[in-house]
Amino acid sequence: MKECLFCKIIKGEVPTSKLYEDDMVIVIMDAYPDVDGHVLVIPKKHYESLMDIPDDLLVHINKIAKKYITQIMTRLNAKSLSLCVNYGESQMIKHYHLHLLPNKGYKKSEKSVAEVYEVIK
Ligand SMILES: [Zn+2]
Repeated sequence: MKECLFCKIIKGEVPTSKLYEDDMVIVIMDAYPDVDGHVLVIPKKHYESLMDIPDDLLVHINKIAKKYITQIMTRLNAKSLSLCVNYGESQMIKHYHLHLLPNKGYKKSEKSVAEVYEVIK
């Protein structure tokens, strides 16, 4: 079975801009951002979708998201931030992940991931 991209990132087999890591989750910059500061919160254990993931892990993911919502909005001086979970056909990578999208609908991505990473980290 071909391993998914996020499992490879979690194992360190694919380089990423990592903001945070603990026993359960990893927080990274999206490599193909929709907006500047597009961040992903990803459980380390592979669960395909929102429907497969245990509730206690969802609580932890959202706790970490809360911390980063504040950090991202402050450091990027963002006026809004959208949380997004794709499910079904719109979910491109079949490993659950929560998108944090500052200024979604207001500003397009203008800077490089590396540039924004230096501001947020
Ligand atoms: Zn995976």
